[in-house]
Amino acid sequence: MPVALCRPGDALSGALRRYKDAPAPDARAHHAHSLTRMLRDHLEEHGSCLWSAAGGWDAVAVVPSSRPGALAVAHPLMGVAAAAGLASPTGTIRLVGLGRPPAHLRPRPEWVAVAGEVEGRRVLLLDDTWTTGAHAFSATGAIGRRGATVAAVLVLGRTVDPGAAPALADWWGRMTARPASAACCIEGQGGP
Ligand SMILES: [Zn+2]
Repeated sequence: MPVALCRPGDALSGALRRYKDAPAPDARAHHAHSLTRMLRDHLEEHGSCLWSAAGGWDAVAVVPSSRPGALAVAHPLMGVAAAAGLASPTGTIRLVGLGRPPAHLRPRPEWVAVAGEVEGRRVLLLDDTWTTGAHAFSATGAIGRRGATVAAVLVLGRTVDPGAAPALADWWGRMTARPASAACCIEGQGGP
């Protein structure tokens, strides 16, 4: 489930990068705050749709960052999710990226190490950006190999370049023409 759509170079796409790597702490905090507000508003409206379509979850995990040096610190998206009130009934699962991240369209579960005992858990997987899904699919594969299930993937921004193909331009036009309240993005859930 994407919270919002973005195009390369637009404001959301910038915020999704800068909340992690803007040089000034104040700038990172500013962007984290605006993403928190966006996620909180989305969960108020669609959190229960996501919960029921996913069949619920009992843990939350964040797709590892591909930045060098990200290993040392907790992923900032975990802070955004907690501030937005995203509940993780039995805590979080830590995922760590190992070495070079997967290329577009080439998921590689070996990239992701899953910390701790996770067998039997149902996981809500979070990511800030979805482009081709290679990172999220890699994490999903790694979680599955450890005996847990990814119940749903929630991403803040799904990045689409409408200029890349006429079909994408059509799709972008249709999606952005809908009023925000028109319908839930999950088929059959919520909306008029
Ligand atoms: Zn909904």
